[in-house]
Amino acid sequence: MSEDGVRDILIIGSGPSGLTAAIYTARANLAPLVIEGQPSSTSDQPGGQLMLTTDIENFPGFIEGLAGPELMGNMRAQAARFGAEFLTTKVDRVDFSSSPLKVWAPDPSTGEPVEHRARAVIVSTGARSLMLGLPAEERLLSRGVSTCATCDGFFFRGQDIAVIGGGDSALEEAMFLTKFGETVTVIHRRKELRASKIMQDRAFKNPKIKFVWDSTVTDIIGDTKVEALQLRNLVTGEESRLAVSGVFVAIGHVPNTSLFEGWLDMDANGYLVTALGSTATNVEGVFAAGDVQDHTYRQAITAAGSGCMAAIDAERWLEALAS
Ligand code: NAP
Repeated sequence: MSEDGVRDILIIGSGPSGLTAAIYTARANLAPLVIEGQPSSTSDQPGGQLMLTTDIENFPGFIEGLAGPELMGNMRAQAARFGAEFLTTKVDRVDFSSSPLKVWAPDPSTGEPVEHRARAVIVSTGARSLMLGLPAEERLLSRGVSTCATCDGFFFRGQDIAVIGGGDSALEEAMFLTKFGETVTVIHRRKELRASKIMQDRAFKNPKIKFVWDSTVTDIIGDTKVEALQLRNLVTGEESRLAVSGVFVAIGHVPNTSLFEGWLDMDANGYLVTALGSTATNVEGVFAAGDVQDHTYRQAITAAGSGCMAAIDAERWLEALAS
C-alpha cells in the first residue's frame, strides 16, 4: 500500500477468477488485497461455487482430478506465497465515482465498517445457481445433486438422471447428459417449455430424453446419495416417485452484482458488461472477471483465464496511469 493509504489493486471475490487475478497481480509486485467473502452455504462465499464441488476432473494439470475446496485452497496459498493479502469479510458498499475507488466491508473481528481505497478494482464476485430450496438439495449437493452437467455428467454413466427446468439451460444440460445417462428425464413445472424452438426440436427428437410435465420436485430421497425424486403433478395433485441417481437443477443463474447497481453497466440479466476482448468495465480502473461477466462458459478454467486477463489489464492500466 502506498503512503496515502491507497492500494494499487483490490480484488473482490475469491473464486478461480479472483484468486488467479491475485496470483498474477501479486507476482507483479502489486500487493493485492483480496476481500474474499464470508463462509455461507451458498456459492456466494470464499472460494466460490467450487467450494460446493467434490470432484473436479477437467481442470487441466491434475491427472486424477481433485476436490473443489482443495483446488481453491491451493490457489489461495499460491497467491499468499507471492504476497496477496486476504480479508474474510463481504463488501457491502462501493463508490466508483472518482479515483481512488472506494470499497467498504465490515472489519472481520469487530464488524465495524472499514473503508478501503484502491487505484484499480477487479470484480470477481461470481454467480450462483438458482436452487429449488429443498433441505435435501443442500445436503445432497455433489452427492447426486448438481448444477453443472459439463462438470459432473461423467459421474453418471449408465445411470438414470433427471434435469429440472424448462429453459435452454435445462435442455442443453439434458442433451449433454444423454452422452452418459441411460435415461434423462426433464421435469418441468408447466406443459410448455421456455426453451428456444430449435432446442425443443432437438430434445424431442432425442430418444433418451423423456419429459414429465406440470410437475414439481417436492423432495429428493436418499441419505448419502440421491436415490429418487418425489414429484407432484401441479394439475392433478398426484404424487409419484422417480428413481434416479443424479439430478441436475437447471432453473437459471443469478450473477452476484447487486452491489454494483448504478456504478457498473449490466446486461438485462444483471451480468457485468466488459469491453470486447478486454475485462474493462465502463468505470476507469474497474475490471470484471469470471462468472460475474460470463453466462456462457461458466467453467473454473474459463473463470481463471479471465482472472488472468483482468490482472494483466489492471497492471497495464496502472502502468499507463503512472507514466
Ligand atoms: P431461464 O430461461 O430463466 O429458464 C429457467 C427455467 O427454470 C424455466 O423453464 C422456469 O420455468 C424454470 N424454473 C424457474 N424457477 C423454478 C423453480 N423454482 N422450480 C421449477 N422450475 C423453475 O434460464 P436458463 O435456461 O438458465 O437460461 C438463461 C438465459 O440463457 C436464457 O436467455 C437462455 O435462452 C440463455 N441460454 C441459451 C442457451 C443456448 O442458446 N444454447 C443455453 C443456455 C442458456 P417457467 O418456464 O415455468 O418459468
